[in-house]
Amino acid sequence: MDMTAEDHVVSEGISTEEFAHLQAFLRVTERVVVITGAGISRASGLPLGHDRVDGVPLEIVFEPRFFQEDPVRFYALYRHLLTWWQQAVPNAAHVAIAKRGAWVITQNIDGLHRRAGSSRVIELHGNLRELRCGACGQIYRSDLVFREPVPRCRLCGRLLSPGFTMEGQPVRHFARAVDWVGQADALLVIGTQLAKEPVRRLPEIARRNRRLVVWINEEAEVWVPRLFDIPRLQGRFTSARPGRT
Ligand SMILES: [Zn+2]
Repeated sequence: MDMTAEDHVVSEGISTEEFAHLQAFLRVTERVVVITGAGISRASGLPLGHDRVDGVPLEIVFEPRFFQEDPVRFYALYRHLLTWWQQAVPNAAHVAIAKRGAWVITQNIDGLHRRAGSSRVIELHGNLRELRCGACGQIYRSDLVFREPVPRCRLCGRLLSPGFTMEGQPVRHFARAVDWVGQADALLVIGTQLAKEPVRRLPEIARRNRRLVVWINEEAEVWVPRLFDIPRLQGRFTSARPGRT
């Protein structure tokens, strides 16, 4: 079976044979790169775009205009978000990716890949760990917002911006992401449809290089550990059998 002839989709509908082939292929594959999106963090209790924070849909909070027009309100909501995110823990998918040593390109700002132990991580949309000064480039830890309602740069006095990109702003480190995918022996796309430019171009690079491309959209916390053959993590998520303790 030529595993690289076309993309594979891992879901309930996959045949046992195809899944076994994928596992076998990944077992001997050297460099695995994953691209992740919001779906991977759902099992960690994190919100999606249409969820609300203090009554405001997240997609509105991430619009640059909201921040520009009312930074006081923005930072009030940011504190909610930060509290929410600080309580989230990596799930079995994040942990399996870290254990496999896969390189991570993520669209998420939650930082859960790093917390799971992944050391090579590209955060295309930035993160919630930091605040930045747009004037002098100074970076601050985001928990500053718990001491200052509207945080300002200590060096130049300017209002600080969140460390994530807002809707419509360009993604970060994209050239490096392209480079990583170009070096990949296998590419897994997890919890995202990669609907937008420029990220939708990344799987095309892998296809052009005749590399394995696998999509996992639902229940990443179940499928990813199984795909990487990491039994201890699988066990935590299979249903408990009666009569066992
Ligand atoms: Zn500054």
